[in-house]
Amino acid sequence: MGNKQVMTVDGFVDANQLGVTYSHEHLIVQPQIPEEKYIPYTLKNQHASTEEAKLFSKAGGKTIVEMTPIYYGRDVRAYQKIAHEAGIHVVCCTGFHKELFMPKWFQDKTKQDLYDIVLDEIENGIDGTKIRPGVIKIGTSFDTITSQEARAIEVAARIYKDTRIPISTHCDKGTMGMEQLDMFEKFGVSPEKVLLCHIDCKYDIDYAKELCARGAFICIDHVGRDLENQDEFCVRMITELAEAGFANRVVLAGDMGKIDYLPSYGGKPGLAYILTELKDTLMKYISKQDFWQMLIKNPQRFLSGND
Ligand SMILES: [Zn+2]
Repeated sequence: MGNKQVMTVDGFVDANQLGVTYSHEHLIVQPQIPEEKYIPYTLKNQHASTEEAKLFSKAGGKTIVEMTPIYYGRDVRAYQKIAHEAGIHVVCCTGFHKELFMPKWFQDKTKQDLYDIVLDEIENGIDGTKIRPGVIKIGTSFDTITSQEARAIEVAARIYKDTRIPISTHCDKGTMGMEQLDMFEKFGVSPEKVLLCHIDCKYDIDYAKELCARGAFICIDHVGRDLENQDEFCVRMITELAEAGFANRVVLAGDMGKIDYLPSYGGKPGLAYILTELKDTLMKYISKQDFWQMLIKNPQRFLSGND
């Protein structure tokens, strides 16, 4: 059996070379809505983002999954440069965010049009480059799946079945994970091929366990927000999931697509945090083996489709 491969911004890499992986981050990102509240969520300074990636690398990080989709300020040329300068792998994505952030043209396209747009990025490259995505993104809104989002899910399912590229989803404040899995199953994609992100944002550990029990991967990716309480809730959630035997379904990240979280942009704690402070805290509660499984083995299994 040959080695499993994962598509990065520099082409295929053996899955076992990915090393320590953050499964949901943003390096260069810009919500396409001209409102003041989105300004902090804009990361456009390539130099600062490179510095951040270097800090990640210095802390032992090796791979970042860049989850900025179509029409959200995605810049694959910049991701490639950052990857080279920081000496890391970057996996970028295709697909769409939740409806609020979809391009205006989304609703005017047929499902076949949308399929063709996404497949073209996978087969030929993104934005006139040869850089290809390693993940398909979809998003749903808070407590609901809109009809446009349902179309994006159907397209992603069909793309998955034709390409075997795994699907990573935006669960708004952690909601709609079950419903997303229901829809994917209806369209022939098993939960093992889906990574549900932001699940910690719902503050419901039983819900997280149920998603894992269905076989999905879940991403706990809002660590580093509650520094005063040392991420008390996320630590408890990770601990309980490990105790329940779900260490093999959990991946970690910071989703630090905001200037407030990145030292290079004047914020904190930065991309190194999970591998330094959070690690020290978590080691009191979970085994080393579980910790590294969440950061190395599980992202490898998810990204290579070897669930
Ligand atoms: Zn994100």
